[in-house]
Amino acid sequence: MRKKIMVVDDEEDILTLIREILEGEGYGVICVNNGEEAVIKAVELQPDLILLDIMMPGMDGWEVVKLLKEHESTKDIPVAFLTCKGELRDKIMALQEGACHYITKPFTPQRLVEEVKMIFERTGGEGDK
Ligand SMILES: [Mg+2]
Repeated sequence: MRKKIMVVDDEEDILTLIREILEGEGYGVICVNNGEEAVIKAVELQPDLILLDIMMPGMDGWEVVKLLKEHESTKDIPVAFLTCKGELRDKIMALQEGACHYITKPFTPQRLVEEVKMIFERTGGEGDK
């Protein structure tokens, strides 16, 4: 089965861009534009990876990852923060909150794909997409 990646970002053009890049690599992509829906869909659809924006109106990325880690069925899903906040403080906080990776915007399509592949290698998801 091909891997499902859930992308959470309040900016539609970023969702569209990431969908194109990752679908082009053969991944299944689920796009969500807010934190509340991200939590619900993660439980329901059990993605293999979540790319999560931090700065979103309403429930932000910090709250989303906290809820995901508290929930039995989503606590083991790898989460990578996808954000333009590239400061060390945020990276440390992301790791403390249980996000395995941190992808800073802007990114090139090549870098995004490399980061995603690396995450799957590290989390034992190597093999079929
Ligand atoms: Mg945002």
